[in-house]
Amino acid sequence: MNNQTKKVLILGGGIAGLTAAWELSRQNISVELVEKSCFLGGHAIGFTCKATDKCQQCGACSVEDMLKNVVNEPLINVHLRTEIKELKKSSQFNITLTKSDIELPDSQIKNLPSGKAAKGFSKYNNPLYVTESDKDKMGSSCEITADAVIVATGYSPFDPNRKSTYGYGKWKNVITGLDLENIIRENGSLVRPSDGQKPQKVAFIQCVGSRDERLGNLWCSEVCCPYAMRMAGTVKHDNPNAEITMFYIDIQNSGKEFPVFYEKIKQNIRFVRTIPVDIYPLENNGLELRHMAEEEGSPSSESFDLVVLSVGIMPGKDSSKLSAITGIPVNQDGFLDNEITCCSCSSSAKSTQTSQPITSSQSASSIAGLFVAGTAKGPAGIASSMADAGKTAFEAMKYLGVMK
Ligand code: SF4
Ligand code: SF4
Repeated sequence: MNNQTKKVLILGGGIAGLTAAWELSRQNISVELVEKSCFLGGHAIGFTCKATDKCQQCGACSVEDMLKNVVNEPLINVHLRTEIKELKKSSQFNITLTKSDIELPDSQIKNLPSGKAAKGFSKYNNPLYVTESDKDKMGSSCEITADAVIVATGYSPFDPNRKSTYGYGKWKNVITGLDLENIIRENGSLVRPSDGQKPQKVAFIQCVGSRDERLGNLWCSEVCCPYAMRMAGTVKHDNPNAEITMFYIDIQNSGKEFPVFYEKIKQNIRFVRTIPVDIYPLENNGLELRHMAEEEGSPSSESFDLVVLSVGIMPGKDSSKLSAITGIPVNQDGFLDNEITCCSCSSSAKSTQTSQPITSSQSASSIAGLFVAGTAKGPAGIASSMADAGKTAFEAMKYLGVMK
């Protein structure tokens, strides 16, 4: 069989979508890769290298590598600033795509002689420059026919403004982990937004938006513990005099290497088991953080130069809309559920990553040939998302009859 006659449409150009596209193309299957934003690579393409004296295995460089593979692969046709409008299934999938109204990101806008353009974080996004003139095409639609569809639309970071007592957006030196990435990428090391100076006392607050009963977000985001620890290690490596404290309620053990990594990081980072209540501004843009430490049993406060909020992984903003368009159910937490009929023999591919099981009031999708990959179905790090996308691509190939 000539696999090139088979075509798969992938929604989402983050690490899961890129990996699935690449795996399919390696089997000579054509891919239409649809990304709503201006660039490929998702959140992870903006992540910096966390190496200290050695590689911290954060996975950020795999995203760049995968992006390079995809943009150089002729079998993968990329549609940027594009989203799905309609999906119909007959013998194949008929998908209507439309140009999204996403604006060029301010921070990345370049003024070129030909007009305004935005450049992605990766050098491999360069061939995919998005210019203002693309606005002309906005609202235009096109129809695509595909033999299978993979939804890999990713997650949304928790909006820190919802934890108003932490003062995000109000106090300059309260930032999120994603802000921290941006600061390090732009400045080469961590500096305070207020004055460009290296902070000497840094606090990380874990579980912001996750494991929070009041918000109704009971799940663990799984990645923010190892992520924050790697970040703290990088900051400490860059500035050995920095004092770093991590406020936590639990530590998520992720992988067999984690216990050793955790023991090592504890030698340099102070861990305090509590979740801070609120943050107040001090003179010189310092911050006072109030908390009730478990071991102390009474309220205490401490001043810091910078506070990093480890915001959790939330369902993608478009999950409900995508569920309505594709028929894939969402679970109790709002992630797309993967309990769908995954091949013509009606076997089921139940996600192991979903945060909560599907409820009896929700019906599983019965559309064969429709798959979900990566963080669209629940929290996962870069390596897990890539592994899941590879597995999903394999399931899609089985469905297409190109793999046994
Ligand atoms: S895995 Fe992470 S720490 Fe290691 S080299 Fe790649 S980006 Fe750097
Ligand atoms: S990974 Fe860690 S910080 Fe993130 S939600 Fe789980 S316990 Fe909290």
